[in-house]
Amino acid sequence: MVWADLVLRDGAVLTMNTVQPYAEAIALKNDKILKVGKNEAIDRLIGNNTKVINLNGRVVVPGFIDTHVHLADYGRLLAWVDLKAVTSIEEIKKRVGQRVQKVPNGRWILGRGWNDANLAETRFPTLLDLDDVSPDNPVVLYHQCGRLCVVNSVALKQAGVTRKTKSPLGGKIEKDKETRFLTGVLQGNATDLVWKKIPEPCEEEVLEGARSASEKLVETGITSVHWIICSLTELKSIQRLHAQDELPLRIYLVIPVSLLDDALSLGIQKKFNNNMFRIGGFEIFVDGSLSAKTASLIEPYTDEPANEGQLLHTQKETVAFMNKMKKTTFQIVIHAMGDRALDVALNAIEETSKGSPINKDRIRLEQAAVFNIDLIERTRKHGLIVSVQPPVIESEFSMWSAIDRLNPKRARWLYPLKTLTKKGILVVGGSDCPMEPESPLFGIQATVMRESFPEERLTPKEALRLYTVNAAYSSFEENLKGSISPGKLADLTVLSHDPLKVPHNKIQDIEVEMTIVGGKITHSKIYHP
Ligand SMILES: [Zn+2]
Repeated sequence: MVWADLVLRDGAVLTMNTVQPYAEAIALKNDKILKVGKNEAIDRLIGNNTKVINLNGRVVVPGFIDTHVHLADYGRLLAWVDLKAVTSIEEIKKRVGQRVQKVPNGRWILGRGWNDANLAETRFPTLLDLDDVSPDNPVVLYHQCGRLCVVNSVALKQAGVTRKTKSPLGGKIEKDKETRFLTGVLQGNATDLVWKKIPEPCEEEVLEGARSASEKLVETGITSVHWIICSLTELKSIQRLHAQDELPLRIYLVIPVSLLDDALSLGIQKKFNNNMFRIGGFEIFVDGSLSAKTASLIEPYTDEPANEGQLLHTQKETVAFMNKMKKTTFQIVIHAMGDRALDVALNAIEETSKGSPINKDRIRLEQAAVFNIDLIERTRKHGLIVSVQPPVIESEFSMWSAIDRLNPKRARWLYPLKTLTKKGILVVGGSDCPMEPESPLFGIQATVMRESFPEERLTPKEALRLYTVNAAYSSFEENLKGSISPGKLADLTVLSHDPLKVPHNKIQDIEVEMTIVGGKITHSKIYHP
């Protein structure tokens, strides 16, 4: 008799497995799911050494998969000293002082969020305050508004700013009214003088960041991420990840194609091909982004008629990339946001496939945004995967107006998730964290509740697929994860409420009470061993 290591019972299990959609209990053995079923059936697998957790009706879903996270950037941001809640300069000094103790001599210390209106001393902190607690490490602390900062003497020195430095256009290097000494306060464009000097994070910092970011992500129920790599340092830092369980979640790497040769020469693909860590795909960027108006459009931007965005790669270059990729085992990922970029991507795909569908390649259209009927049809025909970041949909209609930027006719086909789903096109969901909130439940609510073009809303069940079954398929791991079935990896997320049953506007408020990766509890509010 095989006994379970861990049993979750008396829950509501949403398996996302069509053969057995609902269950009460799950038995886990090693890193896999042993059995799923009714309480009585699973109880039979409880032996002397089995850990048993009574869920008291809590809901279990397959561990969330976020298909688009900038793990290193998020980690870097988490490393900043958080000053949002501080109420005095003394407290700012204390927090900076604590950080100085933790980091190597000379490492830059960055902070953000202070607001002089909340400070007991009713003044800005100054360079003298910061020199007091950090004589050797450069310090930059951003005001809540983001366009003002206070820095210490080391930071000014490294930036080459002296009393004689002239304030740049649109900025001010502040001086004391009486003594004319620098106060350390930089305003507007003067903040760039220091910002430019902050070095890119080193490999050690990238790894530290990836660890702290992963710990945050498991708290939101995420068990796997597709890490969108941005730099060679990030790529190199990955080589330092040795132990299988160094990070608390599973990683699928997506690397810019500009680093393909580096990646091959580092030989990392052989080293990282296990269930915890996989080199997944290489990404070519056919255009930029809609928010920066660099996404390439067929017709100009409605609110800027001289601008139609920009192609970063031609069809010919995209074809060359695809041909190169076909000689490897990696997935092809094409970033294309605007309709012209999508057209170029599809032309390239059609050229290389010579007319025959290439579903088996599972090519991903990353951040694909501005569709039209023709583009949707061609995406379907080639079995392409559309990777979207639902929190972005929310901000593109609320932070700035996609309707003004694209006009209503084009905006109608911006992220047409329902149409894509109805056509049988596989859509996967990611966060684009740290630019957007990391919570998958927030993303699910965003697709279910979108206010503009509500005909493109998904049902909660469809939205859940974006972060589970669909996401697993998009990394060729549908036999390992994405649904709760015997033999699959024991990646599970326990929720306080059922996302398919709560009112749509309450989905993002559901509590993530436990996260399990490969049978190991990586986050828990309800069980403390
Ligand atoms: Zn991104």
